[in-house]
Amino acid sequence: MKIGILSRNRKLYSTKRLVEAAKQRGHEVTTIDCLKCYMDITSTKPAVWYKGAKLEGYDAVIPRIGASITSYGTAVIRQFEMMGVYCLTESVALGRSRDKLRALQLLSRKGVGMPITGFANHLDNTKDLIKLVGGAPLVIKLLEGTQGRGVVLAETPKAAESVIDAFRELDANFLVQEFIKEAGGSDVRCFVIGNKVVAAMERTAQAGEFRSNLHRGGIANLTKLTPTERKTAINAAQTLGLKVSGVDILRSSRGPLVMEVNSSPGLEGIEKATNKEVAGAIIEFIEENAKPHQTRTRGK
Ligand code: ADP
Ligand code: GLU
Repeated sequence: MKIGILSRNRKLYSTKRLVEAAKQRGHEVTTIDCLKCYMDITSTKPAVWYKGAKLEGYDAVIPRIGASITSYGTAVIRQFEMMGVYCLTESVALGRSRDKLRALQLLSRKGVGMPITGFANHLDNTKDLIKLVGGAPLVIKLLEGTQGRGVVLAETPKAAESVIDAFRELDANFLVQEFIKEAGGSDVRCFVIGNKVVAAMERTAQAGEFRSNLHRGGIANLTKLTPTERKTAINAAQTLGLKVSGVDILRSSRGPLVMEVNSSPGLEGIEKATNKEVAGAIIEFIEENAKPHQTRTRGK
């Protein structure tokens, strides 16, 4: 097969591993910087141009689109979809996952468990919003944040109010969420491919920290998922229509709660923690599923 990886940086662990795994399985593979792609969107014969030539003959494209280039990246994926190229992450699914409110609303509609979550826009309802999600302690999250940046734990109503008011003054978009204390500073990353969880790790925060992100010094360990956790992760991934995703779950006393579904889940943490060849599993999935002219995202 001829596979294109949409990635800005071929030196990234995830990109390198996908290239390696594709080559190992005898495929032709190119890394394409999607910001350098250009296209005539009015042409009746859709094409993507790159460094002076048309990108032609691709059987599959693996989008690895960073959060900061979501909009342009999604347009490039749409163009490949119009050309009939199989896109592992479809444009609609990427859009759903990158808009946290949209993603959480979709999950909630399908009955996927999640922490009680509220959001609002107006300046005069801070106290009501806090009440709505059950009062302090609670977690306030900037919608644009990644890697745990912009995630704050407010232990008292007063603290919650001042953080919310400060975010509002800055015109920041955020959500307010019930704090799942019993998760004990841990969460579980489930790596979902198709209708399977192929690898899972538990990440535990450093002492004195509630955020378990590896970038924040969290430690990853192997973990065994319960059947309910497995089902929840798969249900979340399929609700968004993602064929490959990283579903982050909190273990609460009322069962698994989905925090987030990542559409470009990193491979380094999960491969190193589990010793599994996740990159190889992704390429295998493409071998089994890539067909031309499949442009509709099927969410659940
Ligand atoms: P990011 O997308 O920036 O990683 P997350 O929403 O995943 O932000 O939050 C970062 C970390 O904070 C999570 O991995 C988890 O350990 C912790 N956390 C987030 N939300 C909650 C919550 N509602 N209750 C308890 N811990 C949470
Ligand atoms: N790579 C990041 C992760 O796996 C998130 C990517 C995304 O926003 O989809 O946590």
